[in-house]
Amino acid sequence: MPISLIKYALGFGERSPHFPRALQSPLATKKHYDVVIIGAGGHGLACAYYLAKNYAKSHGVKKIAVIDKAYLGGGNTARNTTIIRANYLTEEGTAFYKESQKLFAQLSAELNMNMMYSPRGHLTLAHTDAAMRTARWRAEVNKHLGVDSAAIEQSELARICPQLNLSEETRYPILGALYHPPGAIARHDAVAWGYARAAHRMGVEIHQNTEAKNILVKNNRAQAVVTTRGTLRANKIVQAVAGYSSLLASKVGLRLPIRTVPLQACVSQPLQPFLDKIVVSGSLHVYISQSARGEFVMGGATDPYELYNTRSSLEFKEQLMMHILELFPQLSEVNLLRQWAGLADLTPDFSPVMGKTELKNFYIDAGWGTWGFKATPVCGKRMAECVATDRTPKLLEPFALQRFENFKLVGEKGAASVGH
Ligand SMILES: Cc1cc2nc3c(=O)[nH]c(=O)nc-3n(C[C@H](O)[C@H](O)[C@H](O)COP(=O)(O)OP(=O)(O)OC[C@H]3O[C@@H](n4cnc5c(N)ncnc54)[C@H](O)[C@@H]3O)c2cc1C
Repeated sequence: MPISLIKYALGFGERSPHFPRALQSPLATKKHYDVVIIGAGGHGLACAYYLAKNYAKSHGVKKIAVIDKAYLGGGNTARNTTIIRANYLTEEGTAFYKESQKLFAQLSAELNMNMMYSPRGHLTLAHTDAAMRTARWRAEVNKHLGVDSAAIEQSELARICPQLNLSEETRYPILGALYHPPGAIARHDAVAWGYARAAHRMGVEIHQNTEAKNILVKNNRAQAVVTTRGTLRANKIVQAVAGYSSLLASKVGLRLPIRTVPLQACVSQPLQPFLDKIVVSGSLHVYISQSARGEFVMGGATDPYELYNTRSSLEFKEQLMMHILELFPQLSEVNLLRQWAGLADLTPDFSPVMGKTELKNFYIDAGWGTWGFKATPVCGKRMAECVATDRTPKLLEPFALQRFENFKLVGEKGAASVGH
């Protein structure tokens, strides 16, 4: 065993300059910050990173704190199935996620941490003529915006994914698919920790176990966040709390058009590489990919009722497996290893809510339902721009909270992963 490892194990490592900790031990909170971000998931941390990197000098955004009621990256960031793609249905959505894909591809180098970003190719199966039509529609929108995407017939699908059961004898035979070659997976913990470490090195304070209990508002301005570790005054406040968005927004009097429902997923025991594509069936409500360590990562639709609880259910597992085995009968002897849930904050149009609010200095990052991991870099970068400059970046304009008052929805139900 290397001597350095023994030293580290005995505790000398923490004090050694050769083994700097990713984060320093918790500091006392300050009384005042330029920006307080509530929620240390990927989104909140990415926003802090880009604020510190791009706006400390130009806009004087120097004192930044990210607070989390639990531990960093322990919310949906830790619970998601890491699919990254840009093959959305609307021009607004496609352009937005395309930028995120680009940022994701460079993220390991940007943050000096291996994101295990792995382009696999993403297949959205079509079992009906209507689904084939949507696949063609999406492919045309995607191509128009320079996103690599095509509707393919069954024969081509058999070539790209020979593991799939393409028999006519199944209950829902597969007619073809939308094929998106850049569709990828990455390591979710690395995304959270990469942003956290890089932000922390630029002076961002990350306070874990610090819950926002209330937000003080005066003269249409958010004044301070009342937390379990004191009151933090701030020039600007950002909320990025995913499944808890409606609860927190209600503290400043905002009513969000969001439903919060559990979303479950599971993994199998690890097997040798078998499936190199990400396969999604909107009609069967299932998706599957194989992780770098060989586990099949599988998920389905959201639970059918609103609930603030992350328990796992037997119904989910049974439904999911029934359909997964229709697609891949050869997995019937594989054991399940783990199952878990997160909280999805669903908007009526299946698009996120980002940007300014009716309060002058209160910004929102919410409505990420089942699709927000892939948006972590672009959302962080553009939210930082919005917060620092107080101007809404072009990419964020369609996703303003006001769209629900103006009836300018960005309908993504046909492309939001599996059916909901
Ligand atoms: C099972 C599952 C599968 C998914 N699969 C995918 C996928 O394949 N691809 C994809 O793009 N997306 C996927 N998603 C969605 C994705 O995980 C989320 O949209 C994304 O992680 C949201 O990131 P976030 O940083 O906004 O939220 P989170 O990571 O949830 O962070 C929010 C943080 O806010 C904290 N918080 C909440 N309330 C307070 C408070 N009052 N005070 C302080 N802190 C607070 C929480 O503790 C949490 O750490 C999936 C989600 C789930 C649950």
